[in-house]
Amino acid sequence: MSRALGDQWPLPQIDDGNRGWFTSGELSVQKCLACGAFQHPPEDVCSSCQSFDLGVHLSTGLGRIESLVIVRHPPHPALVDAVPYAVVVVSLDDAPGVNVVGNLLGAPPEELRIGQAVSASFEEVPDPEGGETLRIPQWKLA
Ligand SMILES: [Zn+2]
Repeated sequence: MSRALGDQWPLPQIDDGNRGWFTSGELSVQKCLACGAFQHPPEDVCSSCQSFDLGVHLSTGLGRIESLVIVRHPPHPALVDAVPYAVVVVSLDDAPGVNVVGNLLGAPPEELRIGQAVSASFEEVPDPEGGETLRIPQWKLA
């Protein structure tokens, strides 16, 4: 098993809307140029002020665990060898209001606590469809 949740776990379907998120190795979120609000995933309009004037903010990838769950019972047969694993909701330090979901890797799930500092880490996976290398956003303790 080379991927965190096993090599049989499905990969994201890449399209023009999510290519940057899953291939760049960076966390870019939308920032409204009218009111300054951050949002993710990207939308056509600002959810705070309804402006269409949206830009991109490149996050440092640093944040805090806002919420977490430890998965002990595999919800899918492909995850039998992956449990237990932690899924975290991370609030980004430099993009207030944006929460990002991912797996917390490299630490025993029982030691995780809400409020702990984390940093983004990217799991590189060759695209089985022959496209660019996927870089799946995950998390590790900072
Ligand atoms: Zn706005």
